[in-house]
Order: sequence, then C-alpha cells, then structure tokens
Amino acid sequence: MSGQKGVFFLAKEKKEKKQRSREFEQLKEGLKLRFVNTAHIMWGRELNELTMNEIYQTVAATAKQYISDNWIKTNKTYAERQEKQIYYFSIEFLMGRLLKSNLINLGIEEAVREVLDDFHLELSRTYEEEPDAGLGNGGLGRLAACFIDSMAAHRLPGHGCSIRYQYGLFEQKIINGNQVEIPDNWLKDGFAWEYRKPDKAIDVKFNGNAYMKKMDDGSLKLVYENPMIVMAVPYDVPIVGYHNNTVNTLRLWNAEVNRDFSDYGMLTQEQMRQKQDYRTFVESITRYLYPDDSTYDGRRMRLIQEYFMTSAGVQSIVRHYKKSGMDIHAFAQKVAIHINDTHPAVAVAELMRILVDEENLGWEEAWNITRNTIAYTNHTIMPEALEKWPVDMFRPLLPRIYMIIDEINRRHLEEVRARYPHHEEKVHALSIIQDGMVHMARLAIVGGHSVNGVAAIHTEILKTTTLHDFYEYNPKMFNNKTNGITHRRWLMGANPELDVLITSTIGSRRWHRHPEQLDLLNDYVEDKPFLAELGKIKHLRKEALAAYIREHNHMEVDPDSLFDIQVKRIHSYKRQLMNVLHIMYQYHRIRTDRSFDMLPTTYIFGGKAAPGYYIAKETIRLINAVADRINNDPLVKGRIKVVFIENFGVSIGEIVYPAADVSEQISTASKEASGTGNMKFMMNGAITLGTLDGANVEIRDAVGGDEHCVIFGLKAEEVLNYYATGTYSAWAEYNTNERVRTVVNQLTDGTFGNFQSLFDYLVHANDEFFILKDFDAYAAAHEEIMRRYRDRYHWLKSSAVNIANSGRFSSDRTIDEYASEIWQVKPVVIS
Ligand SMILES: *Cc1c(COP(=O)(O)O)cnc(C)c1O
Repeated sequence: MSGQKGVFFLAKEKKEKKQRSREFEQLKEGLKLRFVNTAHIMWGRELNELTMNEIYQTVAATAKQYISDNWIKTNKTYAERQEKQIYYFSIEFLMGRLLKSNLINLGIEEAVREVLDDFHLELSRTYEEEPDAGLGNGGLGRLAACFIDSMAAHRLPGHGCSIRYQYGLFEQKIINGNQVEIPDNWLKDGFAWEYRKPDKAIDVKFNGNAYMKKMDDGSLKLVYENPMIVMAVPYDVPIVGYHNNTVNTLRLWNAEVNRDFSDYGMLTQEQMRQKQDYRTFVESITRYLYPDDSTYDGRRMRLIQEYFMTSAGVQSIVRHYKKSGMDIHAFAQKVAIHINDTHPAVAVAELMRILVDEENLGWEEAWNITRNTIAYTNHTIMPEALEKWPVDMFRPLLPRIYMIIDEINRRHLEEVRARYPHHEEKVHALSIIQDGMVHMARLAIVGGHSVNGVAAIHTEILKTTTLHDFYEYNPKMFNNKTNGITHRRWLMGANPELDVLITSTIGSRRWHRHPEQLDLLNDYVEDKPFLAELGKIKHLRKEALAAYIREHNHMEVDPDSLFDIQVKRIHSYKRQLMNVLHIMYQYHRIRTDRSFDMLPTTYIFGGKAAPGYYIAKETIRLINAVADRINNDPLVKGRIKVVFIENFGVSIGEIVYPAADVSEQISTASKEASGTGNMKFMMNGAITLGTLDGANVEIRDAVGGDEHCVIFGLKAEEVLNYYATGTYSAWAEYNTNERVRTVVNQLTDGTFGNFQSLFDYLVHANDEFFILKDFDAYAAAHEEIMRRYRDRYHWLKSSAVNIANSGRFSSDRTIDEYASEIWQVKPVVIS
C-alpha cells in the first residue's frame, strides 16, 4: 500500500514511530513491573504456576491500575467544575467482555500483548476467560453499551444506570434441535470490573399507605406509613474513554435486605417468618433479567425491578448533586436524565416525588424541572410491546408514585381539554391513565421534553401512527436519532486486520477518532491491490468463523463458499422463518432440477428465542432439522450448508459479524425500529440483503443506492395499508403461488419432520408478517446476490463501498446528536 502514501507522510510517520517506540518501551517496562507485582499480591505464587483464569484476572487487575487514577480525576473534575451530567437509564446493558475494549481504549493492548509474550502467555487466550456481561436481551441493551462507550470516547460526562442481575440472559444450548435454557451464572468467579459501594446505598420503598395530611398551618403534608424498604447497593463499573483521560461510570444496582435487618433479638415465631419472607422477596428483585425481547411482559416483578433501579438511580443523582453544593432550583441545567425505552419511565414521577416531598418545591416548579431534565427514546411501533400496567397492580405497590402520576395526569388532561374542547376521544388517546391502565410511554412523553425514534423511517411512523396523537399535540418534541454502534469494538476490536488495512490505505489513524473519515476509503474502492487485500481479510475472518464452527458444531464449512448470515433474536417479525423456507426451496431445486446452478453457500443462523415464545422455538427446531437433512444429503455435494450457532451473544458476534459476505436484514417493513446488527455487518464489508425497514433505508442511501446493497419486498406503507384494510390473505397466496405452496407443504410432509404449528401460523393464522407475500421477491433477491457474488471485482468493490460509508453508523455520531440536540452538554477535558 505504501505507493499510495505521500513522501511527507512517510517521513512524519517514521519520526512518530521512533518516538513512539521509546515511549512504548517505557510503557512496556512499567506494565511488566505492575503485572508481576499484581500477580504476586493477588495469588502469592509465581506467574508460571497460575491458571489461565488467574492470568486473566491479573491482567484485568493490572489494567485497573491504569484506569483508577483517571476515574478519580474525572469525578473530581466533574464535581469541581459543576459540569452538566448525563444519566442514561436502561434496564439492559449488554456489555459483553471488557478486557480487550478497555485495553484498546487505554491504548495499551499491543504493549500488554508483548509483555505477556515475554512470559510465553497469549493475550487472546486470556480474553476468552472473561464471562460476557450478558445484562440484556439484544439490540436495546447493546445500544446502551455502545452509547456509554461513545460518551466516554467523546469526553462527555455521561453515565449508565441499570441493574446488577445475578443471572444474565440464559445460556442457550441446542439439544436434538431444540433450544434449552441454562441459567447464566456469570458472577460465579466474580466480576473483575465492579466496585461495590455500600456507603452509597439507597433506600427504595414499596407498598404501605400514602396519603396527604392537613397540618395545623393548613398546608398538606405527605404521610407514607409502613413501607417495605429495600436497600439498593451500587456496584460501579468504570467506562474508559478512547485515548483520553475520561473514565465515566456504569452504576449497577443490587437489591439487598435493609441495614437493620440482621437484628433477630426478641422476635416471635410469626415475626421471624415475616422477616424470612421479606429476605426471600428482596433477594429475588435483582436475581434475573427478563428474557423477553420486543414483547411486553406484564409481570409484577418486572415493575418492581423498574421502580427499584429508577428510584435508586434518581435518588442517588439528587443526593450527589446536592453534595456538590449545587442549587436544586438549577437542577435541569446541570442534569440530563435519558430513558431508554419505557422501562425507566417512572423516573418522571420519582423525580417529582423527590422534588415535591423531599425538597419541598412547589408542584409547578418541580414539574418544569422534571420536564426539562427528562428525555425519552422510543424503540418500537408494535402496540404489543408498549408497556402498560393495571392500576390495581400499580397503586398498592407504589402508592405515592401512583398519586403523583394521577395528579400529573389530572393537570395534563386539563390542558388537553382546553386544547380540544368536547373531544373526549382525544382525551382518551392522550391520557396517561386510561381504562384502568397506566401507560408508560405516555408518562414518558408528558413528563419529558424530547421523544426520539431510532431511525428516520421509524420516527416518521411514530409520528403518523403509534404516537400520532401526541405528535399532533406537541410536534416540536419529536425528533430522530438514528442508532449507531461503537466502531472501536465492532471494527477495530473484532477485525484488527481490517483496521490495519484501512489505516495503511488512507494513510492515517484519524478515523479511529473521527469514523466519518472512513469515507476517505472511497478513493480506493476501485483500487485492485486494495480490493485484493480486502478479499484476503474477509477470507481470514471466514476461516476464523469456520474454525469456531468446527470446534462448536463439529462441522466443516468452506470459507470459499458465500457466507450468508442472519444473527439476532429469533422473532416472527425478523422472519428467520422466511430465510429457512428459502433454503428449503433451494434444496428442492437441487433435488428436482438438474440444471440448477447453485452458488456454494453457507447459511449461518444464530439467536435466542424467549423461553415462552413457541413459534420462535419451532423456528429454531426447523432450522436445525433443515440443517440436519441438507448437510447430510450427498446430492447437495456441499453446495448448501446450514449452521445454527449456539448461544449467540456479544462475544460470539465479534467472530460472526466480520465473517459475513451477506447480511440478512429481512424484517417486515415498518417492524424493525432501526436494527444495529445491520450496521456491524456493513462496517465489516458485508452486503446487505434487506427490506426497506429501520436503518436499512439509511444504509442504502449511504452506499448510494441499489448498486451496493440488495433491497426487496413490501414497503412500510404497503404493510401498514394491509393492516389498516385487512386485505391480505395468506390463504389466497398459498393457493395461487405454486413455489410458496410447494415449500410450505414441506413443513408437514415429513421432508424435515412435522412443523404443523408453523404451517398453521403461515396459512391459517394469516401470516402476520407477510412471509408468503414477500417470498418471491426474496428468492429473486437471492438470485441477484448469487449473480453479483460471481463477479469478484464488483463484489469486493461493493464491500469496500459499504465500509467506506459506514462511518455515519458509528455511535459516536449518534451520541454527538443526542449531546447537542437533546442534552445540551459539551465535552469536558480531563487533563
Ligand atoms: C447487535 C446485536 C443485536 C442486535 O441485532 P439486530 O440485528 O439489530 O436485531 C443483538 N444481539 C447481539 C448480541 C448484538 O451484538
């Protein structure tokens, strides 16, 4: 590549390199000392006596020494300079592993690798020892994780707030083709990155009686009798900025029994029993992450988790704020609270409670502060995913919070009625409490100053359908913030060879800090030597995935075949079923049409189904049945292989995304709010095969149209129109489309086993996500992919175009937009 760089750059680089190597040697020396010392302190043994896990823990503890000074300095700077702080509330943070990402952000990964080398230890093997922090289901939780990484990278004072689940998302095993769920006991060997802060514990109150009492001076005072008190103990995780000194905090709350609980003296048997019940209850609050993705689960424990984390979070923010000596009246100028989906929406009422009951502010002022502090991100247009709680459940559990929501709603509806006199339908549509339910999205909108969707098309659909009445009522608060992913984890970390190729090609590492500069690669998308290198790197990643599959699936896949990958939660709207039906169709062609020219393709699936989601689990069973049949049919001669990768999660994703030639993004148009997997694939050079849904629309725009992606299927408008008119008939489709009928019949004719429920779902339950309707277009799209893949030069060019234009999908860009347009915060330099 050196021929592509100017002479000046080379000279400068040489000088930099020399200087860097002196600094580098010093860094290595320091690291080595600390590493050996740390090992001796932690284990009291020689390095060569340690297990791999002990080595991992030693490396993590060494890294922490490079983090802690800056963590202290960051907190001190924020407090002294009274900088505005952002708190990102999310019931999920799908962090994955942290060692590699921390070393990259600290800028010491290479030095650590060489130090370990000197002891004949392999850094990459220590990475494998770290359990994934799987505190999330999928996209929503991973978004939160990318966001805190980007906030720290951009020196923004932004922190995360969530729950320290004792068990993360279940581990998925495939046994006889079926998903089996195993508890994810991720804390069993401890979590190296957390710091327990018992002195910062917070009381969270449930149950009891709340009412207003008239005082002698005529004022009203809140009385809250017999609450059950749960102690929230924070576990702080440092979030390291990229090559800056910023270290922010992810605060995870753990539920524990109240401080004075251990006093067992002088209790009756009945009192002892009550105490035991209390302990059992408290310990269950933060035990499990709910394994549901994109569906609303109305279970009471979920509401308890939501209030537990939100109350603890908001209380600790106010306490910290006051301790820094700031004026409560200026709260909204110094604090931004962001709520990721509706799970923390109760923050609106909790902040009001604190300001009114504890800080004794008047309602009007407290309301202004609350609305100016809080902003909300919506993640779905699907009505079944919108949270609403029965008043009969909500009120007894959170009596004071319910009173406050009731009062918020009373005042809100007064305004609504003034705006729309004699228009009770509007009042119903805008009411927070309606038909015996508390609507959390409505609370979040009324109690905040901003509502955003997560991709352009999603925000538009919110405005025209799901939240139309609110949009009409207050259009100014609606805005779009297209999602993003951290390119540090998903490109630099997951695909180091591609990182090196990009840097040497454009002759600068500036894109690490300014990912939009990836567009400099556009000058090389027709450069044959560059494309040849790109092709080699893709092959390397495919070999790595093939090795993973060999080890875990005991199966050979050919890295020279096309890797067509769909990894994400298993969900009807994501249409994994359409993908596998199409594989069944190709298999049918191979068996019945000798002239069929099948491009050798490896179809790779991965993803977890919610444990109670029958259709999703049947889809997994079908994928595995199809794999079993096709992979073992000599007639196929390896032209198709089907693989289901067990237990898909962040760390497996780091192996999978970079290995794809084709990225399957085939959700029913209008259903996928944004998607972020699509961005990870794109950034690693896969070609998108997708519908015009979520961020796919913007990916297509970014690559300049259909030449560098393959788009098919119904448009969102058409889908929404079918729903509105009820004119779609899957039965008619089945009867008139021979290709569809042939494939669907194979669900029950014994070719792969019996999948009656999937057949019924498609044919008799009217195929709610238009799989049959889109099937022909999907098959045509696959033919187009095969046609393009056979032209290696143009394929690699498309791959390069995708990488070159993926910069805007870095979460650094997303976070900049949130910071300037919603939070009004500026970077703070930590010196
Ligand atoms: C990115 C990511 C997702 C989200 O994928 P989508 O394709 O956007 O649904 C889910 N799970 C994991 C582990 C991820 O890394």
